[in-house]
Amino acid sequence: MDMNNIESIVQQVLAEMRGMGASGTSGGSASIPATAKVAMLTQKEHFDVKEFPIPPVGDDDILVKVEGCGVCGTDAHEFKRDPFNLIPVALGHEGTGEIVKMGKNVTKDSAGKPLKVGDKVVTCMIFKDNPDITMFDLNKQNVGGADVYGLLPDDDYHLNGWFSDYIFIRGGSTVFNVSDLDLDSRILIEPCAVLIHAVERAKTTNILRFNSRVVVQGCGPIGLICIAILKTMGIQNIVAVDGEEKRLSFAKELGASQTVNFKDHKGIEALAGAVEAAFGGHLADFAFQCTGSPVAHANIYKFIRNGGGLCELGFFINGGDATINPHFDICSKEITTVGSWVYTLRDYATTFDFLKSAKDIGLPMSKLITHKFPLSQINEALQTNLRMEGLKIAIVNE
Ligand SMILES: [Zn+2]
Repeated sequence: MDMNNIESIVQQVLAEMRGMGASGTSGGSASIPATAKVAMLTQKEHFDVKEFPIPPVGDDDILVKVEGCGVCGTDAHEFKRDPFNLIPVALGHEGTGEIVKMGKNVTKDSAGKPLKVGDKVVTCMIFKDNPDITMFDLNKQNVGGADVYGLLPDDDYHLNGWFSDYIFIRGGSTVFNVSDLDLDSRILIEPCAVLIHAVERAKTTNILRFNSRVVVQGCGPIGLICIAILKTMGIQNIVAVDGEEKRLSFAKELGASQTVNFKDHKGIEALAGAVEAAFGGHLADFAFQCTGSPVAHANIYKFIRNGGGLCELGFFINGGDATINPHFDICSKEITTVGSWVYTLRDYATTFDFLKSAKDIGLPMSKLITHKFPLSQINEALQTNLRMEGLKIAIVNE
């Protein structure tokens, strides 16, 4: 075996690893099957894993072999009640995978980074009807008003969600090359983008500073990621509030300096006193409300100093009304409040840098993914989410 031989074998193996087939031609289909498995929600609380033919890849299209996809609260909501009237639907929007084939017009991702077969990608919003919107439009359009893969009505393509083994990305979609992130980080991009957006909203108050005392209420995935982002930004004085010791100790691993278990304190006065004590006798300069509980919203004002700020991001869906006292809670304290919901395309790209920084400073982000299921067990994965077990649940393809 001479050197040329070895080189050609190495090239062949690399080509196969990239899913290009032994021929090594970009876009070759030697290793691409004729059909793809797609988890279709066919009725409430029931997915069928169905096989569909993989459509021909057009000049602007990208075919991605799915590696994994997080289960979002939105998926659980749709699984349980179909509030968006989408059934039958291919769900899963927090997904990532590898490009196995792409059309000749696709050369760059939505941020201008080169794209090739073998690159790892994620998708974000789809602006088929509004190509003028780019990631540099900042707040111009929030993802809440756009289409995303994993929440599209079923059509002739069928490969529209990330709970599948292949997804078909059509021209007009936003797609990002995230080959420099590991699989767990890529699965966490979407929930992290929600917090990047919330922190950007918080910064508009001009109250959040390096030396701010920040309270984060709620230590589910959203609150925990919030703490990790604040830590990565260099904020050191973070108090986490939750009712579960396990979550509070994880909050410390992700950057909280102190924790308060609300179950240890009877009544809001005692709880506010505990938060104040955790800051060494001071109320918070800024608060992030990360629970979906109206009572928690009403309580959080008591943790904030006069002139402080609040970012409310816990109510992704309607969780009911909260009762506050506008005089005591907002006016007389001159509290600046911002609301936050989903994210913009720009926040999405910022999230990649956050995930790299979090890894660099040793935050154990991967531990947020507490459960991994194969696609064949998707019904169980969603039921686990509905039982509120663990933190982030993910489907990971073998
Ligand atoms: Zn989501």
